[in-house]
Amino acid sequence: MTGSIAERLAAVWRRIRAAERTAGREDGSVRLIAVSKSQPVEALIAAYRQGQREFGENYLQEALAKQDRLAHFDIGWHFIGPIQSNKTKAIANRFAWVHSVDRLKIAERLSEQRPLDFPPLNICLQVNISGESSKGGVAVDDLAALAEAVSKLPRLRLRGLMAIPAPTEDVEQQRTNFRALRRAQEQLSNLELDTLSMGMSEDLEAAILEGATRVRVGTAIFGPRPG
Ligand SMILES: *Cc1c(COP(=O)(O)O)cnc(C)c1O
Repeated sequence: MTGSIAERLAAVWRRIRAAERTAGREDGSVRLIAVSKSQPVEALIAAYRQGQREFGENYLQEALAKQDRLAHFDIGWHFIGPIQSNKTKAIANRFAWVHSVDRLKIAERLSEQRPLDFPPLNICLQVNISGESSKGGVAVDDLAALAEAVSKLPRLRLRGLMAIPAPTEDVEQQRTNFRALRRAQEQLSNLELDTLSMGMSEDLEAAILEGATRVRVGTAIFGPRPG
């Protein structure tokens, strides 16, 4: 992996733009979330200076420390990691989006703890599309009931679905997995969802061809995660 963060970020933007065109989608229809977990705050600043404004974090304590240091930056923070119930209050107070909700209890707590003077917290439900138990996510069979219940919570705004399929270099398999998430979303047409959060460093093109609206990219921007 060579180049500066600025160069690698520009390369990721080019990949996104090329995939949008291949898919016959509008330029700018896919948003990039820069996944900065385990990266130092200087790395986020380098990306911010190039115009990157949305960042994804997995570990709450690490994220809060970065948010404190970047308090005067105009950043949209996305929480994308596993959520324990004792962390929901801080998440509800410090993030604009949460992509990793897979249980009603967590959603209820986020809704109760979202400050009244904040806009509703944007939520994606994490779906286990390739049957990988270790990665978390609601089973496809249980998705409709969860989505219905979450959509009724007052301080949340249900935006769409997220998945982390099992990694594979087989592009057809990547597309099959992402298509499964899109189809799951299509089954929920009554809920007017506008977000498909899928695609990472290795498979963002396949995700965009299958309808991703937000890709979450770490390594391709920041290089390998330290430690
Ligand atoms: C780490 C992570 C990413 C980014 O993965 P890369 O392969 O580094 O691009 C995306 N989404 C989630 C949920 C992650 O944990």
